[in-house]
Amino acid sequence: MTGSLTVVGLGPGAAELTTPAVSLALHEATDLVGYETYLDRVPQTTPGQRRHISGNRVEIDRARLALGLAAEGRKVALVSSGDPGVFAMAAAVFEAIETGEAQWRALDVRVQPGVTAMLAAAAHAGAPLGGDFCAISLSDNLKSWETIERRLEAAARGDFVIALYNPASRVRPEQLARAFAHLRQWKAPETVVLFVHAAGTADTRLTVTTLDAADQPVADMRTLVVIGSSKTRTIARDGITPWVYTPRSEDSPS
Ligand code: SAH
Repeated sequence: MTGSLTVVGLGPGAAELTTPAVSLALHEATDLVGYETYLDRVPQTTPGQRRHISGNRVEIDRARLALGLAAEGRKVALVSSGDPGVFAMAAAVFEAIETGEAQWRALDVRVQPGVTAMLAAAAHAGAPLGGDFCAISLSDNLKSWETIERRLEAAARGDFVIALYNPASRVRPEQLARAFAHLRQWKAPETVVLFVHAAGTADTRLTVTTLDAADQPVADMRTLVVIGSSKTRTIARDGITPWVYTPRSEDSPS
């Protein structure tokens, strides 16, 4: 088979945060597959390149479309935002290969990493991920709310810094408030909480607050929420948003 599939992540938004390797894969592709909002971010540099806008919310169907094109001999780039392996298309591609046509296993399939929202958000705030951290998606499309609560509890008991992806569900807007209520059982009221909207873009907005004050969530679909560990702290600055960091040493005072 001569076709190929590269699963790419565009980064969080700003063009300069798309890696050169991703830009090259996009440029060399004969076919792009992805959501319209993502494909809109890809410059038209390749004459004759086909764009397959997929509004399909079922990720594995999009993965199958991309694999099918590659099996026809096309050079396909499947486009995600951020990193394609972080709550995005890469896992769906491998699930589709595992459960799909035997010939797909012979395809040249690659994953090109991207700057995930969590890293862009953390960089904007300072260094909140300086110690051990974890990432949890609050979306309950693919897992139950019970699973989410169990993982929140485990992360809180382990005193991890927690990055929350998908904090605002259109269908269940109260979920983030529920997550905060759940975490308050184990985490101190003064725990630092960050809301980073549109990280890694020209419109980034950072809100620094605490777990007890984080009742009226300002999160939307483009917000990454970071909940600190017991060590996460702020450095006040006159008239500007404080820096937030988590010291790397566990011996630093809380
Ligand atoms: N693959 C993506 C994540 C997809 S899940 C990545 O690696 O970044 C979608 C969630 O990611 C959003 O609901 C939001 O929580 C987060 N997100 C994506 N882009 C963001 C950005 N520029 N700023 C803040 N959060 C973002």
